[in-house]
Amino acid sequence: MIDSKILDKLKAEVSNIENIVIIPHLNPDGDAMGSSLGLKNVLMKMGKEAQVVTPSGFPKFLSWMKGADDVIIFEEDKKKAEDRIKEANALIFVDFNSLKRISDLSTAVSESTALKVMIDHHPYPEEIADIMISVPQSSSTCELVYQVIGKCGWEEFVNSDAAECFYTGIMTDTGSLSYNSSNPDTYRIVANLLEKNIEKDKIHELVFHSNSFHRMKLLGHVLGEKMFLLPEQQAAFLWLDKQELEDFSFQPGDTEGFVNYPLGIEGINISAFFMEKDGKIKCSFRSRGDFPVNQFSELNFNGGGHRNAAGGESQLNMEQTIEKFKSEIEKFYKQYKEDRNND
Ligand code: 5GP
Ligand code: MN
Repeated sequence: MIDSKILDKLKAEVSNIENIVIIPHLNPDGDAMGSSLGLKNVLMKMGKEAQVVTPSGFPKFLSWMKGADDVIIFEEDKKKAEDRIKEANALIFVDFNSLKRISDLSTAVSESTALKVMIDHHPYPEEIADIMISVPQSSSTCELVYQVIGKCGWEEFVNSDAAECFYTGIMTDTGSLSYNSSNPDTYRIVANLLEKNIEKDKIHELVFHSNSFHRMKLLGHVLGEKMFLLPEQQAAFLWLDKQELEDFSFQPGDTEGFVNYPLGIEGINISAFFMEKDGKIKCSFRSRGDFPVNQFSELNFNGGGHRNAAGGESQLNMEQTIEKFKSEIEKFYKQYKEDRNND
């Protein structure tokens, strides 16, 4: 599935390069941080200088990963991030495939003359790198990065620290192997990672069972007061404004996974979550079955992602964003139903 010529090129280039910066997408999740830090740990073992630069902060429940304390966060230290990117001989982009996904960090990246590599599993990649490894069938970027490492002959450099990072991303992007995991390769990779002596139970504890009291209260609030159904579209949506987030002492990552809850309702196949952030509305979409939330998001909310998990944003206020969502989902759903009936 991964073109062997591309891998040969990657191998040849990396052997000559010492100074590498790894960049994940804005608001990095388990897969973005897992693939960044996993790859960093492997490259360091190979004797390279490898630095992770994130466009924005990452959730506390990922801060235990080896190398997390050394990450440069662009939003918090622009100069340091820009200088580090200038020095690099190679930039590796993980878990995104359009420069829009790294927001303002894209200026420094576009100005860099370093070799650019992309490793990603989102569909419809843009030509953002010299070496493009795009496999939308992969469960996660962590799975893909691990496969690339194996195919390049670098498996011996995957120690338990790196394996823990890769395991985390596979777990978070597949909902602990519930979705995106129908490919047996994913299980083989998980088995390989377990053989690296990782502490699997500890990882689940740290990632899934380390909620703050405030996050649990916020979850109770959003499900109790802020969830609405659109039965005709088999859809549901949730929303939170800035004031509510402040009231519940919001920390990055606190709303992770909220969008999945409505899909637990019988007969609901589409879910949306809207959250006010930095003067915009961040949108998250999920679906079950073949309803393409990535196309819906691209069309209406300047976003994208996977068929069943996508995101986007809105410059309208919350009320207008919800009105837009309601009217657009009605149209899109009608078309989707008609297309299916014609098949
Ligand atoms: P989430 O809802 O967890 O933020 O994102 C779900 C999926 O959609 C992820 O695969 C993520 O990379 C993608 N995604 C989230 N926000 C955006 C966005 O603004 N633009 C695009 N193209 N993809 C997004
Ligand atoms: Mn991912």
